[in-house]
Amino acid sequence: MTAGHPANAARFTADEPRAHWHDQALWFVREKRDRAAALVPDWEALRDAAARIRAHTQGRLADYLEEFERNAVARGAKVHWARDAAEHNAVVHGILSAHGVRRLAKSKSMLTEECGLNPYLEARGIEVVDTDLGERIVQLAGEPPSHIIFPAIHHKREEIGALFHEKLGTPAGLADPKALTEAARGHLREKFLSADAGLTGVNFAVAETGGIVVCTNEGNADMGTHLPRLHVACMGVEKVIPRLEHLGVFLRLLARSATGQPVTSYTSHFHGPIAGGELHVVIVDAGRSRILADAAFRRSLACIRCGACLNTCPVFRRSGGYSYEYVVPGPIGSLLASARDPRAHASLPFASTLCGSCDDVCPVKIDLHDQLLARRRDLAVRRIVPLGKRLAMRIAGLVLSHRAAYEAAGRITRFLLRILPRALLYGPWNGWGRRRELPEAPRESFRDVWRRTRGAGRG
Ligand code: SF4
Repeated sequence: MTAGHPANAARFTADEPRAHWHDQALWFVREKRDRAAALVPDWEALRDAAARIRAHTQGRLADYLEEFERNAVARGAKVHWARDAAEHNAVVHGILSAHGVRRLAKSKSMLTEECGLNPYLEARGIEVVDTDLGERIVQLAGEPPSHIIFPAIHHKREEIGALFHEKLGTPAGLADPKALTEAARGHLREKFLSADAGLTGVNFAVAETGGIVVCTNEGNADMGTHLPRLHVACMGVEKVIPRLEHLGVFLRLLARSATGQPVTSYTSHFHGPIAGGELHVVIVDAGRSRILADAAFRRSLACIRCGACLNTCPVFRRSGGYSYEYVVPGPIGSLLASARDPRAHASLPFASTLCGSCDDVCPVKIDLHDQLLARRRDLAVRRIVPLGKRLAMRIAGLVLSHRAAYEAAGRITRFLLRILPRALLYGPWNGWGRRRELPEAPRESFRDVWRRTRGAGRG
């Protein structure tokens, strides 16, 4: 059982300036996404097409995965299947240890975070270097990512400067983003050159061609996989798309939804291993087929991990990624976490205002807020929701379904609103009211102040 979203969120919001800054930083990305989407005349048609392709693929997932495997093997890749995180980690470790790998250059992969691959490999003597800048920052800080696109979004640049000073020996007080990026580039360059293998995630696996596609903005996936001879690519079963022509639909949606860019800086296609090298693709289930079998929640598997629903969610922006205690936070994370372990993540479906903003921005049109509501109902039916919340929901249900009760509740609420604000705001128990109370109004009017200070004749 986790601490629960409300307690974690309260800790985050206790630091008001940081919570405000986090909110503003993500809203900036949301607005950038809006501008980028508005420049594409057929944006809604693209979203419809993406949703249809995902729904079709989910209906024939096993067929497309087998087609992908056949074509990938024909191009010289080795394909492995893993039922769960433990199998995934064992398969990856088996490949690396068979090649005597001591240092692994890893580009961003939420799947490997989900499987806990880094600590698994580190415990077996393999150094894992996260090469995405944000991921490297949180790795140096000993933290998990707090956002699926911006893993270190919760850190201010001064904090990153202090971290780099401590870990990389940069000058104290360095906070210029360009200088910090240059320092990270120099540090990572040496790691790339000495890595024995590269590991990437997979944004899309094309069944028709057997190729995989990896999108990055820093080119780190290319650096990590072109220098060593061994490339391991890890993907969830849901990453497969049927045809190459479908790729353009998703690529146009992904970059704009994630960061507001027209396209990611590097869209790398891998068709088989490089000359003299090996490419291993590890396909992982880890609970996904269980979600697929559940008609009410299977649409959550259509997610392309763009992060747009996180950036727009008023709860995520104001409570931070760590308050979710799951590798994928925000609205989509709440769905995936509660599908995986409803009891441990029972508070997450309630970490939403149900405003529907997540549905509006989702490039693959996942009905996130409907599914969150359905999950709340599911938790209540299974009595996983705390008693107090169940009672409150029961009372709200009664009031909203009986006109007389509804009108009586309205009268009581109006009465309370007349008497409560003064008591709540100015009562001795209320620190909030005391902190925000306006200074007492001046006893003389503005005109009197003007006359007194500037002279009666000028009033
Ligand atoms: S649910 Fe939709 S908006 Fe959220 S990360 Fe996935 S694709 Fe993006």
